[in-house]
Parts: sequence; structure tokens; C-alpha cells
Amino acid sequence: MNSLQAAAEGKGFGRMIRRGGAIGGRYGLTQAKMDRAVDRFATVLENHECGATFPLTAAALARGRWDIDAYRARNIEFAVHGLYHVDHSRLPTGQQIEHLARARSLFAERGITRPGFRCPYLRWDEHTLEAVRQAGFRYDSSQGLVWPVVNGRETETYHRVLGFYRALSAADYPALPYCEDGLLRIPYSLPDDEGLADRLGLTPDEMPPFWLAILAETWRLGELFVLGLHPERIDLCATALTAVLRAARALSPGVWIARLDEIAGWWAARAEATMSCEDDGAGRWRVRVTGPPGLTVLARSVTVSAAPWDGVYCRVADTEFEIVTAVRPFIALTPRSSPRLASFLRQQGYFVETTHGQIVYGLTLDQPDFAAGDQRPLLRQIEEGDFPLLRFGRWPHGHRSALAVSGDIDALTLWDYGLRLFGR
Ligand SMILES: [Zn+2]
Repeated sequence: MNSLQAAAEGKGFGRMIRRGGAIGGRYGLTQAKMDRAVDRFATVLENHECGATFPLTAAALARGRWDIDAYRARNIEFAVHGLYHVDHSRLPTGQQIEHLARARSLFAERGITRPGFRCPYLRWDEHTLEAVRQAGFRYDSSQGLVWPVVNGRETETYHRVLGFYRALSAADYPALPYCEDGLLRIPYSLPDDEGLADRLGLTPDEMPPFWLAILAETWRLGELFVLGLHPERIDLCATALTAVLRAARALSPGVWIARLDEIAGWWAARAEATMSCEDDGAGRWRVRVTGPPGLTVLARSVTVSAAPWDGVYCRVADTEFEIVTAVRPFIALTPRSSPRLASFLRQQGYFVETTHGQIVYGLTLDQPDFAAGDQRPLLRQIEEGDFPLLRFGRWPHGHRSALAVSGDIDALTLWDYGLRLFGR
């Protein structure tokens, strides 16, 4: 438990649940109002030729009139936002399993066979993750990651809500998908619309710089910005959303704007990519790459026929090519290094090999222990190094970073809202 998590366990828990749920006039939402909000949201997205993910409580899906096919045609993905909008970390394990199984079957009845998942209030525990694994969700996007972009505008309630979410700091943890014991975790970026509007009390005109700062930082790092905007707040936040989409479209190398299910699909497809590198002697190496369409091959500090990409990297267009380098351009791990370290590096697009000392590599790591907190320093060490390196880009088609727009739909009616109080 980190200090934010510790703060979350303090006072104000029940009040935060009530405040978190009652904001934005959600008591008064009707299907018609939600339809209008989602329609406007989808129109803003269409203007920038992109889609979004809407996590929705299964109760609201079952009780509402949702034309799933029509939304799908508008590039909208629905994910599960609980059976009801309840704090899963307060539910017994058996009940969490039961809730998620029922939520999945309600989604399946509407033709959504393998949805993703986001916890209400971003609050989960190890049992939630186990229930998400058991229920076979495509991904989990419940870990809040807070970007240090608020700079002096923080309020007491802002800090409290971050504690309530048990948010981690993006300064310490990378904003990247990570497959953990068979479950793909996709972090959620904070501040979201609720942070900007309710916790920081910003006006629509004051909001854009905060999200633009997250976009700039995720782009600099090559990471993922999962923007959160509850559809009922689209009128208040449309200016900020538009600013982000416009800025993302203007960056080069580009930002991949994708739904969360597309990101999950890409992460799984790219994990199957392979790279072989045969020594032709005298520092020449023959490289062969296989992988999904859009796979990006990046090279640095080697001699290769390739176009400049960004910074020290160039982008190789071919799947078979030759490079000249004095050392093997992969990352070597000692036999005793943690399997989690190897898994993390591979997921990030690096090619790793176990070394027994005969071959010279640009970087050799000897780390029997590897924890989540070691990820960000390791990425910095690799990316700030200048040793010869061949790697896969994290995102398809040469994009430098990724952006996923998402908007949780908590409840449609007072009845739905009331269900959360009973949790069954
Ligand atoms: Zn919610």
C-alpha cells in the first residue's frame, strides 16, 4: 500500500462514495438525456475520425435501450463497469465473482461476447482481479495513474479523491498496458473530467492545458493516455476533449488514437512478433522480422538502411535486412534474472535473450527481483542509453504514443443508482 492508498483508507470514505456518485446531476439522468450526451460525444469523436470506449454498468445495459450495433457503427466500444456501480473492494470475494459473471452474461445477451472491464470508483482488490480473470474479461482498466500536471491548483478534495481511487503516480509507474498473470491491465489517466470539473473546480476554458500536458508527456515518453470523460459531462468538457484530439492529430510521429479493445488486441498481436538476428561475421548481422500488420521496427546506434523516425531511432521498413554493429543489438538477461523482467521487456517491444557470457550485448541486466516500481527506472535506463538496439515500436504503424478516450456510464435512473446501495 502506498501513501495515497493509506490516505484512502482514512476518513471520508462513505462521503466520497456518495459524492462520487451524485455529481453531475446523475440522479436526474434519463435514457433520453444519456442518448443525447453519448450522441454528442460520438459526434466530437467522429469529427476527429476516432472512437471511444464506454464502460457501462450491466444493470444500465440491461434496463436501458441501447442500440449496440448503431454505437458499434460509430466506433464505440462498450465495456463492463460492474454489474452495479458498487465499490468492489468492499464486496466479499464470492460476491465479486457472482457480479462479474452476471455482468458478462448480460453483455453476452446483447452480443458483446468478450468485453473489457473497469471498476466503479477505480476501486479494486486482488480478489477483483482474480474475479476479472475468472470471468474472462479482455482487459482491466481500473488502475488510476495520476499525472503531475495540476501544479499548484491542487485542492484538498482533489488529493482526497486520488487517495480514494488508490491512484499511483505516473512519475513512478509507466502508463503502459501490462499483461499480469494472464490479465491485461491498462492504466487510467488522472485527472479525468471529474477531477477537472468537480475537484479542481475548473471552467471549460481552464481545462484544456491539463489534458494537453498529459498528452505531451505521454507522447514524450511513448506511453498511453487513457482519457476519462463521463458522457453526461460532455458539454462541460467538449472544448478540452477537442483540444486534445486536435493536438494528438497534429503530432509527428503520430499518436495512435484507439479504443481500449483495439489496444488490447494490438498488445496481444505484437506479443507474437519475432526477430531473429544471425551473425554474418565482421560485425554484419542478418535480421528477420515477423509480426502483425503495422509492426514497427526501430533501430538505433547501428548501421542500417532505414528512414529517420524520432530522436536517435530510425524506422526499418523491411522485414529482412542487414545491420552493422559491434555488439548484438538486443538486451541480455543473466539466467538468474526475474522472469517478470523478461516478460515486461518483451511486452514493451524489446528483444531479450539469456546470456551465458560468450556474446557481447549493448546492455546486460542481472536482476533476480523485478517489481512494478522498477519499471519506470528501467525504461529510462534503456531509452536514455546509446548502446546499439533493435526493437519493436510499442504502437502500430510508427506511432509514437497512444490515446484512448473513455467515458464511464454509471447509472441511468434513480433506480439504477439505488441498486448500488444494496449491491445485489
Ligand atoms: Zn463509474
